[in-house]
Parts: sequence; structure tokens; C-alpha cells
Amino acid sequence: VRLGPEALATLPADVLRPTYDRRGVTAGIVHLGAGAFHRAHQAVFIDDCIAAGDAGWGIVAASLRSPDTGDALKPQRGLYTVAERDGANEMLRVVGSVLDVLTASQAPDALLARMVDPRTRLVTLTITEKAYLRDANGDLDTAHPDILSDVATPGRPRTAHGFLVEALARRWKSGIAPFTVLSCDNLPANGRVLHRLLIEFARLRSVDLADYIEKDVACPSCMVDRIVPATTDADRARISARLGVADAWPLVTELFRQWVIEDHFPLGRPDWERFGVTMVDDVAPYETMKLRLLNGAHSAIAYLGLLCGKATVADAFADPSIQGFIQGLWTDLVPTLESADALGPEDYTRKLAARFANTALKHRTAQIANDGSQKLPQRIVAATLQRLAAGKVCGRLALVLAAWVEALGSSDVEGFTDPLDGRFRRESLSEMPPQAAVELVFDAAGIARGAAEKGHLIDMVACTLQQLRAEGVYALLLRLNNEDQGK
Ligand code: NAD
Repeated sequence: VRLGPEALATLPADVLRPTYDRRGVTAGIVHLGAGAFHRAHQAVFIDDCIAAGDAGWGIVAASLRSPDTGDALKPQRGLYTVAERDGANEMLRVVGSVLDVLTASQAPDALLARMVDPRTRLVTLTITEKAYLRDANGDLDTAHPDILSDVATPGRPRTAHGFLVEALARRWKSGIAPFTVLSCDNLPANGRVLHRLLIEFARLRSVDLADYIEKDVACPSCMVDRIVPATTDADRARISARLGVADAWPLVTELFRQWVIEDHFPLGRPDWERFGVTMVDDVAPYETMKLRLLNGAHSAIAYLGLLCGKATVADAFADPSIQGFIQGLWTDLVPTLESADALGPEDYTRKLAARFANTALKHRTAQIANDGSQKLPQRIVAATLQRLAAGKVCGRLALVLAAWVEALGSSDVEGFTDPLDGRFRRESLSEMPPQAAVELVFDAAGIARGAAEKGHLIDMVACTLQQLRAEGVYALLLRLNNEDQGK
């Protein structure tokens, strides 16, 4: 038997479930990228809002490419379980806020119609960093085949940009006010970046449309935080056994969840602050702190962990050499943050250490290692350039970047993918001298492009890569952990 509306009454008493009548909920939100993160983060906040009586903000979630989420959730009428794990405790909650799941590649018309519907007041996104389709300068990649296709056939979009701009154009033409667009991906200034990309994309279609999107469409930025590893078959089996019915795609996550959003929603928004969301005028300080201290540390754990044979974050963080390194990395990163004192980074990193040590979450280092070329610029490189410009020591930051280049070229580490795949033969990196390997990767990824310190950065990372190859990762970790990096 599958999880679904009829099964709700049969679930064990300790499983939380929607207490509201889902038939009375209307869809005010369309979400693009119906992956794990959205369903364990935003959809849970919205589930709280609906349960408190705000029934106008149900979600229609769409996958732009793969039918996998729709295939799993349609038979369950959008219901799925979120398992919050901490130590031996696992709290199960069936979430009811996702009313329908669409697969855009199969039914672009249905998704466009839903986005144009005046009841849709908000479109949110978690499409992964690479799906923003930026070139090495951060501008829209206007040569990308999907962008070219979306300009040529606007009624059959493939990209998020294509769907958003076509839906906004149709609303404009029909006199329907534009929805607000809220990016929830881990990009700095995610709203501002997306707004600019949409304007650039619209300009390929018409200058008037671009002007309209520039002036009339709100794209607030936000910072999202909850660790949501990819679901495993063991998770599916364990959770389904506890439910007594089969859930084809439950999510496993931690207790912690945070969302900080810029308060600019012309068509209104859910009453989020009642459920722990922080509404602010400027999200930048929160975002930088999270991207560098959490995501930067995550990437460091991923590449160093892979080189040390550690499969999960908790395994890697249990290793004193890696944990000591991360504590030192945080000491180096905190002075790069604006308004650090007001945000309390020491308390933040103390909580992060506890979250990374959560052995109940099997967050794979290889999952975090994916797409490093899209992630490291904002997580590690920006802070490194800032420290270099201030004349500070950057040994730990350089090791994270060197570990990335080494892991990219290594056949010994568990596999991970990157949009750079295909630009060069990854295995050839390990045969190249360190300087050439670092230059090749940094140039292909556009790392530090145009920065005055680029040459210095490359030399430093190449030198660290040389040491990494000669001495091994543990020797380097030990040396850095014994040095005072704060100078
Ligand atoms: P996921 O793999 O479960 O889902 C990714 C979603 O993005 C899927 O719907 C997929 O179809 C879509 N997608 C992937 N490539 C795409 C492309 N090229 N074009 C359009 N859509 C594409 O991943 P997730 O855990 O849901 O994470 C998604 C994003 O959420 C991350 O990239 C990050 O920006 C953000 N995020 C994740 C976490 C986390 O812990 N998982 C935490 C904070 C933020």
C-alpha cells in the first residue's frame, strides 16, 4: 500500500501529518526544481503556514527535466515524509503542502498555465547553481543551446529562465500582475543575480519585455539553511516500515532549519515570521556568513574527506585532523565577514560543529563534491582573494582549492561530477605539473577571473598541490593544524 490521502488515518500515532483539509488549499506558489532540499525546507515552512490557516499558499512543484519526482509523488497525491534525525531519534512528519508535481519536460504547457494563473503569486526555485547558466563572467550564457532554443521557441521552454520570462510575458500581455520570483539556491545575492539573468534573457526576445522585468518584477534574495542529503534506498525502506505504507521518496534531514528572506513581495507572501523565518531588508551578511562558514566548510570536508577515504561528513568530521583543520578554517574566514559581530559567528560555528558531527545524517562527501566549479567561487575563492589583498596567510584556503584540483584528477576517490566534465580529461590533471593543473582548472572554471590577485592565488594553490602530492594530505593537515594561521 502506498502513502496517500487514504493512508493518513492509518499511520502510527507518533507520525505527524497534515491536520488541515488539503482540498481547501489553493496553489499560490509554483516551485521550479522539486528536489530534496525544497521538499525538506520550504515545503515544511509552508506546511506550517497552511496548518495555521493560511490556505492560499499551497505549492505546485515542477521538475524541469527528470520525471523521477513526479513519478514518485503523483501516486501519493503529493504527500511525502520528512524524517528529522538527531542521534538515535527520528521524528517522522508527512508534509501536505505540495499539492501537485509537474514534469516540465513532458508538459511545458501545464506548467506555463499554472505560472500564468493569477492565483500564482510567487515562483520559487532550487534548480542547483549550474542551472543559472552563467558564463565565466557571470553573465547569461547566451550561446547555451537551451537558451538559444528558449529564445527561438518561447512557448516550449527548457530552462528556468525560459519558463519565467514566457510566463511573465503572458501575464503582462493579459494584464495580470507579475509574480514575485524567489531563488532559494546557494548563490550569493541569488535574487539579484537571477533578476539580472532574466533581464538579459528577456532582452534576447524584446527590449520592452526586458524593461518590464527590470522595473516590475520583484526578485528578493534569501538565505536558506538545512542539511538535506540525497535519500538512500535504506532510508526508503526504514521510513516505509515505520509508516506501515510505502513512501517512494521520503527525505532525511536534521532538526535545524533556517530561512532569512528580503521582505519585498508586491503580491503578498505567507506569514512566514510566525514560523521562524527571519524577514530582513538586506540578506547579504547572513548569506555570506552561511556560504563561507557552512558551505565553505562543507566543500573543504568533501574534498579533504574524499582524499582521506571518508564517505560522509560525519565520518570526516570525526577525524581530529579534519575537524582541527575546519576549526582553523573558520578562524581564517570569520574576519572576512561583514557585520560579523552582530551575527555571532562563534555561536554559529559551535552549532555547525554539532551539525557536522550528526552521525544520523549520511551526507555523502561525493554529493557535496559535485559541481565544485560552480560552488567554490562564492564559498572559498572570494574569501581567499580578500585575505590575499589584506596580506593575510591563506594556507588552509589554498589547501581546500588544491584538494579540489587533486580530487578532480584522482581515480582513487569516489566519483563526483562537474559541469567542467568534457572540457578536459580529468584524469590528465594528475599527470600534469601542479602549476599547469591549477591553471587549467581555474581558467576553465573562470576562477578569480579579472582579480588582481589571480596570479598570486594560482601560484599559492599550485605550491600547496605540489606539497599535497609530495607529502600526502595528512602530513599537510597536521602541519597547518600546528601553525598559527591567524596572522
Ligand atoms: P536534488 O538533486 O535533490 O534536486 C535538484 C533539483 O534541481 C531537481 O529538481 C533537478 O531536476 C533540478 N536540476 C538539476 N540540474 C538542473 C538543470 N541543469 N536545469 C534545471 N534544473 C535542474 O538537490 P537538492 O538537494 O534539492 O539541492 C538543490 C539546490 O538547493 C542546491 O543546488 C542548493 O543550491 C540548494 N540547497 C540545498 C541544500 C541541501 O542540503 N541539499 C541546502 C541548501 C541549499
